[in-house]
Amino acid sequence: MSDEENLVDPSHPRYHSLMIRKKVAAAGEKGMLADSAMIAHGRGEAFDYLIGEQTIPSALAATKEVAARLLRARKPVLSLNGNAIALASQEFLTIASQLNCPIEINIFYRTPERMGALLAHLKLMNTKLGLDVEILGGVPDARIPGLEGPRGACQSSGIFEADTVLVPLEDGDRCEALVGMGKEVLVIDLNPLSRSSKRGTVTVVDEVTRFAKNLIQIIPERPPATEWNNIQGLQSALNHITETMANKFV
Ligand code: ATP
Repeated sequence: MSDEENLVDPSHPRYHSLMIRKKVAAAGEKGMLADSAMIAHGRGEAFDYLIGEQTIPSALAATKEVAARLLRARKPVLSLNGNAIALASQEFLTIASQLNCPIEINIFYRTPERMGALLAHLKLMNTKLGLDVEILGGVPDARIPGLEGPRGACQSSGIFEADTVLVPLEDGDRCEALVGMGKEVLVIDLNPLSRSSKRGTVTVVDEVTRFAKNLIQIIPERPPATEWNNIQGLQSALNHITETMANKFV
C-alpha cells in the first residue's frame, strides 16, 4: 500500500469512495487520463452518493442481462476508456478472458501519449494476471460513422465488426453512433439520466468497479437473455434515488 493510501483511514464511512477517487488521481499522474477525467468521475460519484454506494436490485438484474447478452454475442468487445482502465483494468481483463473476447481502448481525447500509457498499463496487467487478452485500439483502421475527429477512430477487428459492445462510462454521441450501427450497446453509468444511459440497449446503473466484480461472478452462471425493457430499468434506478431521498429529514 502506498503512503497516500495509508492516509485514508479504513474506518472512514466513505473509505471505498475515497480510495476509488485516489485511483483516478493516480492514473492521471501517470498520464493515462485527460484533464476532464476527474470531472466525469465526480459526476459519477455524486450519483453513487445518492444511490447509497451499493448495487441496487435493478442494477443487479441489468448486470445479469449484460452477462447473458455478452455470452450469446457472436463477436463481443469490451470498449474501455481511461477512467474504466484506471478503476477496473484487472476485472475487465478477467471478464475478457472469461468471454474470450478482445478489449479495445477507445478514448475521447486521443493523444499518442495517453494511448501509449493506457496500452502499456493494460499489457502489464495482462502479464501480471497471466492472461493473454487481445488489446486493440493502438492502430485504428476504421471509423464509427457519424463521429468526427479522433473520437470516431476504431479498429475493424474490434468495435467496428462487433455485434455487441460493452461501454462503461461512454459519451452519449458515441453510444448513439454505435446503436446506429446496429450493435447491442451495453452501458455502465451511474447517471440514469445521461444520454448514454437512455440510448443504450441495456444500462447498468452501478459503479463500474462494483459492476465488473459482479459480472465476474455471474458469467459462469450463464444466465439466459430476456426481453429487456431498458427504460423500465432506468426508471427503477431513478425511483430508488427519489424514494430513499424522500422524507430523509423527517
Ligand atoms: P452523456 O454524454 O451520456 O449524457 P456525460 O456527458 O454526462 O454523459 P461523460 O462526462 O462523457 O458523461 O461521462 C461520465 C459519465 O460516466 C457520467 O454519466 C457519470 O455518471 C458516469 N460515471 C463516472 N464515473 C463512474 C463510475 N466510476 N462508475 C459508473 N459510472 C460513472
